[in-house]
Amino acid sequence: MFINGQWREAASNKQFTSSNPATGEVIDQIPAGGAEDAVAAIDAAHAAFPAWSGRSAYERSAILYKAYTLMVERKDELAKLMTTEQGKPLRAAANETQYAADFLLWYAEEAKRVYGETIPSARGDQRFIIFKAPVGVVAAVTPWNYPISMLTRKLAPALAAGCTVVLKPAEATPLCAIAVFKILQEAGVPDGVINLVTAEDPKPIGEVFTTDERVRKITFTGSTAVGKMLAGKAGENMKRISLELGGHAPFIVYDDADPTHAAKGASLVKFLNTGQACISPNRMFVHESGVDAFIGELTSRVERLRAGNGLEQGVGIGPLVNEAAVAKVERQVEDAKAKGARVMCGGHRLMDNGLDKGNFYAATVLADVTPDMLIYREETFGPVAAVVPFKDGDDVLAMANDTTYGLAAYVYTNNMAKAMRTVEGLDFAIIGVNDINPTSAAAPFGGMKSSGLGREGGHEGIEEYLESKTAGFSI
Ligand code: NAD
Repeated sequence: MFINGQWREAASNKQFTSSNPATGEVIDQIPAGGAEDAVAAIDAAHAAFPAWSGRSAYERSAILYKAYTLMVERKDELAKLMTTEQGKPLRAAANETQYAADFLLWYAEEAKRVYGETIPSARGDQRFIIFKAPVGVVAAVTPWNYPISMLTRKLAPALAAGCTVVLKPAEATPLCAIAVFKILQEAGVPDGVINLVTAEDPKPIGEVFTTDERVRKITFTGSTAVGKMLAGKAGENMKRISLELGGHAPFIVYDDADPTHAAKGASLVKFLNTGQACISPNRMFVHESGVDAFIGELTSRVERLRAGNGLEQGVGIGPLVNEAAVAKVERQVEDAKAKGARVMCGGHRLMDNGLDKGNFYAATVLADVTPDMLIYREETFGPVAAVVPFKDGDDVLAMANDTTYGLAAYVYTNNMAKAMRTVEGLDFAIIGVNDINPTSAAAPFGGMKSSGLGREGGHEGIEEYLESKTAGFSI
């Protein structure tokens, strides 16, 4: 753990293991922090706040820029660590590391653009000036599926704004978090400004984060259930909150789109990170005129994906995070089969060639998925493409919106007016139009409905860490 500029063990001296999800091998022992450590970290962040928020934006920017250059220099090393601890293939890990570095660069720039406002008053003897001020101590909780970029997406804007931070990473990926903190330390972030509390049991730390009055904001990325619980407690104590939660993305292929081209996109975005992405398509609505071509192309691409240890050449798909994740995928696929879905490929665990030591499930394509199936409603977070045919007269927008989630959506069409109407009609906050990667450090990322509150990235991302102060001057 990293508290007040010192690397240390947990107060209890307890540890837990970080292991490789592809092989089951133990990688390292990690301090198992608890409530006492969380309080010590908040003490440090609270004490460091006045000096850090008092530094000029240019000084904070320079440190973030240095962290960006260090992260880019160490991209290969970080990618290897991520593949070993999280499981995604090396190329995907390198791409994520670049994405993570992009947030450091973007907020190194945005730090210098925190503008206030002057507002005309109705009174001739009054002037309004709106100042921006950092919110204070931020408590951050991050997930394992993007174990480096989800940290910089929070740390970079918080630091740019002048906040200090206590971060608790996911129990499955503490080593990636440690690597990020080492970079920030080396870049010159002063003692106490960033603090890392690793833990096997997150509950006592969540309790401290939501109740300690010195914590002014909580930023969380993870499941909707935990997000709602933390938001409830944070609300009771009047803390600001940002939540990036689960998703259930629709992927709509209209009759005028090329189904083969759309299937290529679907195969790339669905199986990225073995389907363990909040923006992963969970229901592929394909017009009946193109559905056979779509499924044919998708299946042939998915059958060619080689599963294994992401460090090996030619591996296109890694393990799931743990046994519970495999069991969830299995349950959804078995339920869909029992209710009439056709398994075009996959549909089982992978046990041969040593894969039984890791958490592997075969990349799967399901045809004829219907609304009564679990997979139609529940987030899968695994390598299953569920194809739902639709026909003329079906209200595909209503079908797509028929979910409690509202994070990402995708649409394939060659008709501009239809694309525009679809974007306007979808209750989702990130929409790819003939595009499978509608994300960037420069663009806002976040969800509607049960997918969350607030936005990360873009110029909106830093606002989450700022208060507006209205000063009315009588002159
Ligand atoms: P999770 O909610 O179980 O865990 C996320 C984080 O919350 C971890 O650090 C965990 O230790 C912590 N946590 C769990 N219980 C807690 C508690 N009581 N108090 C404090 N912290 C607690 O989710 P997960 O399974 O690790 O992550 C997968 C989920 O995250 C998916 O639903 C996915 O869609 C979502 N996700 C969303 C985004 C996004 O930007 N919207 C990005 C990545 C993942």
